[in-house]
Amino acid sequence: MTGRPLDATGLLRDEAEALMAELGQSRYRGRQLFQWVQARRVTNLGAMTTLPRTLRATLAERISVSRPVVVREQRAADGTRKVLFGLRDGEEIESVLIPDEDRLTACVSTQVGCALACRFCLTGLMGMRRNLTPAEIVGEVLALQDSLEPGTRISNMVLMGMGEPLLNFRAVERALRILCDEYGAGFSPRRITLSTAGHVPGIRKLAASDLGVNLAVSLNATTDGMRDRLMPINKRWPIAELLEACRAYPLPQRRRLTFEYVMLDGVNDSAEDAQRLARLLCGIRGKINLIPFNVTPDLPDRPSPRERIEAFQRILCNAHLTATIRESRGQDISAACGMLRTGTDRDSTAKTPPTVKSEPKTG
Ligand code: SAH
Repeated sequence: MTGRPLDATGLLRDEAEALMAELGQSRYRGRQLFQWVQARRVTNLGAMTTLPRTLRATLAERISVSRPVVVREQRAADGTRKVLFGLRDGEEIESVLIPDEDRLTACVSTQVGCALACRFCLTGLMGMRRNLTPAEIVGEVLALQDSLEPGTRISNMVLMGMGEPLLNFRAVERALRILCDEYGAGFSPRRITLSTAGHVPGIRKLAASDLGVNLAVSLNATTDGMRDRLMPINKRWPIAELLEACRAYPLPQRRRLTFEYVMLDGVNDSAEDAQRLARLLCGIRGKINLIPFNVTPDLPDRPSPRERIEAFQRILCNAHLTATIRESRGQDISAACGMLRTGTDRDSTAKTPPTVKSEPKTG
């Protein structure tokens, strides 16, 4: 057999079935293969003992089962864990596991770097390096699950790691279909949240799909003037257009959109901002998640004082909006929101980091 082997980690169940049909096997063999890869997380074909030995030998010539490699793991004081993964071409991504009382959330990356250059986010300083493939996104989640003790399971997933998921729509969509398949990892779409910086065509595509995941929108400002400065994507899709797409987003009963709002000292945290935000979101079924800014020396802004965040929240609540303050997790290992970055200097146990091409952007 010639050509690159097919990567089973990125195969949908019906594609695995079609592959088996092509090999003259019954389709249920495809489901078995899918179960081995996705539910039992086995990467070695030889260990897939429900498949006949001869079939395993044939498969060995046709397919591989990929997995990103764990390069480093860090544990924060609050139990949050950050995992650095190495990809086949030497690129690296970070993912985070966030334990809570009753859940374990995986924060998943969808791109290496990011093209959007939001002023308050470290990933933006990397620039865009490349999209993750469906197999890499699925492999990231399966490898995170592998890193847990037996009996512990990832219960929730947020696409809030490195990258803008809607700028890698096809790969993200395929990965989510694989991860939500009942014969595979079996995630419930209702426990998955996709977060976007406001890519309007992507929101419309997601709305038209049957994926059924939750949508979070990083709003972060209440005027186009300020949002243009914080998030360059706003110049292309300004607030009014973004909120129109949000209004048109079909929500199942009792579900709401999430609006994320990073609190930056003296930038977007005034009482007027809170009032404007309440007016903007009037009539949209949504909740607001106020995010204390995670500071690093590489970024220009400072965090809003706690009292101001609470005052902001109070104004929103008085306007009958639901507003929560996101507790920052994993800050001591740079695992918190906006702190994920790879390819910069790291301890000597790590491999040679790829060079970062982009210059830091400031507003
Ligand atoms: N590109 C997507 C997903 C990645 S960012 C998006 O923009 O939504 C995930 C969240 O982290 C966003 O809501 C963003 O506003 C927030 N964030 C980014 N940098 C941050 C920082 N330094 N401190 C706190 N939150 C930050």
